[in-house]
Amino acid sequence: MKYGVCIIGSGPAGISAAIYSVRAGVKTAVISAGTGVLDSAEVIENYYGFERISGRELNERGINQAKKLGVDIFEAEATSIDYDGGFAVSAGDVSIECDALILALGRRRQKSGIKGIDALEGRGVSFCAVCDGFFYRGKKVGVLGSGAYALSEAKHLAAFADSVTIFTNGQDAEVEIPPEFSVEVRPVRDVLKSDDETGGRLKGLLLDDGEVKEIDGLFIALGMASAGDFALKLGVITENGIIKTDSDGQTNVPGLFAAGDCTGGIYQVSQAVGQGAAAGLAASKFSKKSKR
Ligand SMILES: Cc1cc2nc3c(=O)[nH]c(=O)nc-3n(C[C@H](O)[C@H](O)[C@H](O)COP(=O)(O)OP(=O)(O)OC[C@H]3O[C@@H](n4cnc5c(N)ncnc54)[C@H](O)[C@@H]3O)c2cc1C
Repeated sequence: MKYGVCIIGSGPAGISAAIYSVRAGVKTAVISAGTGVLDSAEVIENYYGFERISGRELNERGINQAKKLGVDIFEAEATSIDYDGGFAVSAGDVSIECDALILALGRRRQKSGIKGIDALEGRGVSFCAVCDGFFYRGKKVGVLGSGAYALSEAKHLAAFADSVTIFTNGQDAEVEIPPEFSVEVRPVRDVLKSDDETGGRLKGLLLDDGEVKEIDGLFIALGMASAGDFALKLGVITENGIIKTDSDGQTNVPGLFAAGDCTGGIYQVSQAVGQGAAAGLAASKFSKKSKR
């Protein structure tokens, strides 16, 4: 399906962006894996025009408003984005091409809780199969995660690696894993690393029952792909996982915008709505220009 503007995320940033984009006359889609953090805001008393409203109701009102204006909303988890001048987003059975894309995914990034993993980033641990998969040609790699995003990363790695094991760390796999991938459900107790002056390199994982699984690389793909994960794959400039944009929400990648909590600042609905509006307007302009 082809759209002028596609937005990932249906929180206040994504929905505000969609309202401005569709009202600028551009065919607009939202892909969303459900309500974001607003769902846990029981009472909001500081949003303009509402003395007191629950986060859930505020979000539902926004989504209904966007639907009435003609925004197409797809309930699906985005797992990959391809860019070659335009964007192609894959989300389960949904595949959307668009001229301009807005990342409005909030700021959730799931932590592994496994001690020492983050410290090995760049030395056997990676957060991006598209960026680093090539370095593991003919090697044994693992993917840490249990959902659609983990499977998407594993599929990407299969083109390079000798073998790919999906480590679910004690969780049940949330998607059907094709037989070409091994699945290891036992919890991971520790990471094993080589001893050298650079701080060591990942050698393997120690499982809860004491068995060691030797791997050369581990790709972290916990929960859903976050804004930071997509930014890494698309070459977007970030600072501590926060996406850098100009005042229109434009990132350093032409046609790629970001709004709301994933861009830092004050984590508030009012900021998300304002940034969404600016990004929606700028993205719709970008889409119109790219059609000429
Ligand atoms: C407990 C709590 C109380 C709060 N109270 C207030 C308050 O009183 N006032 C106030 O102004 N703010 C409050 N906030 C903050 C406010 O909720 C956030 O600032 C706001 O929701 C941010 O909007 P957003 O659109 O950037 O992100 P979110 O609302 O987090 O929306 C993110 C969207 O991205 C989607 N998404 C993420 N990953 C994917 C993926 N891979 N594929 C598809 N979709 C994806 C999610 O499903 C969701 O739809 C509160 C937050 C919390 C947690």
